[in-house]
Amino acid sequence: MGKFSERKVIAEIAGRQRTGAADLIKGIGDDCAVIRKSPGCVELWTTDTLVEGVHFDLSWHAPELLGRKAVNVNFSDIGAMGGKPRFILLSLGLTQAVEKAWLDAFMQGFLTVLEQYDVILTGGDTVSSGERIMISVTVCGEMDERHVCFRSQAQPDDRIWVTGTLGDAAGGLMLCQKGMFPAEKYNRLCQAHLDPKPPVALGSKLAKSGLIHAMMDLSDGLATDLAHICKASRVGAEIAGQDVPLSGELQSAARSLHFDPLKLALEGGEDYQLVFTAPPQNSQMLVELCSRENIEIICLGRIIDGDGVVLCRNGQRREIGFCGYEHTF
Ligand code: ADP
Ligand code: MG
Repeated sequence: MGKFSERKVIAEIAGRQRTGAADLIKGIGDDCAVIRKSPGCVELWTTDTLVEGVHFDLSWHAPELLGRKAVNVNFSDIGAMGGKPRFILLSLGLTQAVEKAWLDAFMQGFLTVLEQYDVILTGGDTVSSGERIMISVTVCGEMDERHVCFRSQAQPDDRIWVTGTLGDAAGGLMLCQKGMFPAEKYNRLCQAHLDPKPPVALGSKLAKSGLIHAMMDLSDGLATDLAHICKASRVGAEIAGQDVPLSGELQSAARSLHFDPLKLALEGGEDYQLVFTAPPQNSQMLVELCSRENIEIICLGRIIDGDGVVLCRNGQRREIGFCGYEHTF
């Protein structure tokens, strides 16, 4: 193919999907598809693929951590709707280079996370995939229909919140690529890339609380993911550069290696944190809810009328919508 972007391909595919169904509440266009299972109860479906050489490199990604990550990036999407993961399918495209010990360690990591969340492996597929390993995981989750959090529910004057710190995973990937792993000093960054731990249970608590409007997980960088919320909700967003949460390790790596940590936080992907919007009067209750779960949240902006995502930094305003990570072909 020529120069196609992931977003264009998805829009093209979505445009060809003509049929609906009475029990399909949300199809293409959110973190999960939402399907009514029984009165008041919905199923959530999501799938994510990891490709060798694109998402992981065997020289620094231990198989056990890769197994964990393959599950966690999918659970992140379930948590972003407010749901609980229940069942999982695992499809593996394997190469000649794969050895039994590697596969054993991969499955060990994979199954450990399933145990942690009480999720059952119910099937999958195993094929030869030529030169590169491919790991495709599909998860089915469930939740109360009343509490589902869509990308499309942000409202003007909502405050924009994120969990954790941003840019660590992109920083960790950069260190791995520069051959600086293992790096005691920057362990947090490398772990964020190698072994992300999305706040799935918090997503469910936030949804149940009724305190928030829109929510999604951060997989492609805040600049892109917030733009998805804005587009789906037909609103704009303004974020304050100085309020974007950066870890001490990312700032220290940025000083040593001469990169802009804010750029990584906004445009680097794979943080698997949550971004959500909520009316300003709920701020205090949200901080308390998250602190009971031992998770820090930070308010870094607000939803406005209009469209796009504007970064306010050093007295200047810059449009950054969809500047995050995107696959091209
Ligand atoms: P996420 O990052 O939350 O996993 P994506 O950006 O990958 O979401 O996808 C956005 C939406 O497009 C989702 O609803 C996803 O299911 C859908 N999607 C992505 N690729 C395809 C495809 N090849 N066919 C149909 N739907 C797709
Ligand atoms: Mg997502």
